Amino acid sequence: MQIEKLIRNKAKCLKCGEVAESKSGHDFRRCKCGAIAVDGGLEYRRGVMESHDIYEDQSEYYTLHYPTWDDYKAGKQPIKVEFSKHVTLEHRRKLLRDWLTQGEFVVTFKKIDGELRNMPCTIQEGKVPVVESKTGRVKKPNDEVMSVYATDKNEWRSFRVENVLSIEMKEQV
Ligand SMILES: [Zn+2]
Repeated sequence: MQIEKLIRNKAKCLKCGEVAESKSGHDFRRCKCGAIAVDGGLEYRRGVMESHDIYEDQSEYYTLHYPTWDDYKAGKQPIKVEFSKHVTLEHRRKLLRDWLTQGEFVVTFKKIDGELRNMPCTIQEGKVPVVESKTGRVKKPNDEVMSVYATDKNEWRSFRVENVLSIEMKEQV
């Protein structure tokens, strides 16, 4: 799987030589001669130009490749994925859920007090105890926090998705 993200939105005017860069959604920037302009910041990329031949796109992208569970099983890919700041919350959540439902992994995350924790955990069916609901109420899903079964403590634990640094396959005995 691969995600690509815009990290700089800019273009060079080949008429006056100036580089115009847009840093936020409503940051409309023109070059000094006015022949080109960029807009949209990192939310969307929009270029305005007198003609295409004077507009040189200099936008920068960040690309993250990461293995899917099938790649992992086929042994073709590395088994550790590190999350940089460019990986969105949505993609982190998707990868964590994708993998943890299928096995046991070590998730490294920063705790609220700033300390790092390497937690072997899973949410794979059959490996976690069935949770009995006492009240019968359904807990409101929270996209920012993930609950997992910590296999070193045999207890449910949770972490904030944004604080996860990496996920790594645990050595299987
Ligand atoms: Zn110009």
